[in-house]
Amino acid sequence: MLKVLKFGGSSLADGMQFAKVRDIVKADPAREVVVVSAPGKRFSGDNKITDLLYLVHAHIKYGVDYANVLGMIRDRYEGIKAECGLATDIGTIIDETFAGFSKSTSVDHIVSRGEYFCAILMAEYLGYKFIDASDWLVFNYDGKVETKQSEAKLREFKEIYGNIVTPGFYGAYPSGEIRVFPRGGSDITGAIVAAGLNADIYENWTDVSGILMTDPRIVKDPKTIARVTYDELRELSYMGASVLHEDTVFPVRLKDIPVNIRNTNAPDDPGTIIGEKFEDELAEEHERFITGIAGKRNFSIINIYKSRIGEAKIGLLRQVLEVFDRYEIPVEQIPSGVDSFSVVFPSDSIKTRKYDLMHELSENESIDNCELTEGISLIAIVGRQMAYRTGISGKIFQALGANKINIRTIEQGADEINIMIGVYNEDFERAIRVLYDSFAR
Ligand code: ASP
Repeated sequence: MLKVLKFGGSSLADGMQFAKVRDIVKADPAREVVVVSAPGKRFSGDNKITDLLYLVHAHIKYGVDYANVLGMIRDRYEGIKAECGLATDIGTIIDETFAGFSKSTSVDHIVSRGEYFCAILMAEYLGYKFIDASDWLVFNYDGKVETKQSEAKLREFKEIYGNIVTPGFYGAYPSGEIRVFPRGGSDITGAIVAAGLNADIYENWTDVSGILMTDPRIVKDPKTIARVTYDELRELSYMGASVLHEDTVFPVRLKDIPVNIRNTNAPDDPGTIIGEKFEDELAEEHERFITGIAGKRNFSIINIYKSRIGEAKIGLLRQVLEVFDRYEIPVEQIPSGVDSFSVVFPSDSIKTRKYDLMHELSENESIDNCELTEGISLIAIVGRQMAYRTGISGKIFQALGANKINIRTIEQGADEINIMIGVYNEDFERAIRVLYDSFAR
């Protein structure tokens, strides 16, 4: 059994957090490989090391003295060293690193040092071998990871050293020059490591006990999702749920390695497991058909009507969509009736151009009438347990109807894991609460 663990910035913010990480790693001998972010905020208003490093880069670029910022960065690592009783002379390592920076040092190189210093300290603390990401994670010149080569190098290190710590967020071009992933990219490194080593599980340790069934700003203390599939996750994150982006864990998905989101501050919580599919559904999951509820405000609907349109409908639909295409309006849904259809799209995609758009559509002789409704929210009710079960949408509409919530649009994907409804913005939060209270509690 091999577990790869990635710890996010808040899990590494100070010595106390480092101690929690060590307890977690030492609690299970299978936890052999650790990927770390850079220390994050200790309290609200505090600075993330990575943000400070971006600031250092700006100072260097404009030739401004940055001793102050450097002092803040050094203090953070010195603090961790002292609190954890470590021997590594991190202050000198930091000073020497910065002394080597000049105007020609790339921003990627500078900001990557947050995870680099952090991994050095964590390796000593755990008694694991520090392996620099630039020694194994190779980018080609198109900016893509050379997966095969990177995995082979990593496996070599793993074989030689057994237990290792490696920094997240960056790798290197074949020339040795450093390149970083987008912000938050340590998640990607963790997934590459887990996939490369064929881990049994990728544990992603953060500061929440998994993915919540809905937005905690709308529903108080929503439950945590025990298990979610990638397809469900995609629907939920598309609709605005702030969850791990499924692209970031693509390498583990390819190999069918489960991802477990865990909370460093509540290590006994089981967290959320993300997987391709679950053969053995838990009884509780089977009973509850909803995995999660997410939604977004501020959509508009344009309703197009033409009496006795019949077969000409497809042609008209094409004409209308061409107009939307020209205005570069992303179309979200196209609910359709016998003599009418509607186009649903984000309101901010037309803003001031809405009069032009409406004018153009009303000029079209094939359209009898078109009207614009604004202030619509879309809510996605997502659940793999909804697929091929009868009566689910009936239950949903009934619950909303009983609470006098008017449903403006309805759409269900062909795979039946998502029912999307449109309601007025005023009803948005209440609709989510009704759905949660009716089906998720
Ligand atoms: N430290 C980097 C950031 O703040 C990368 C990461 O945390 O994943 O974006």
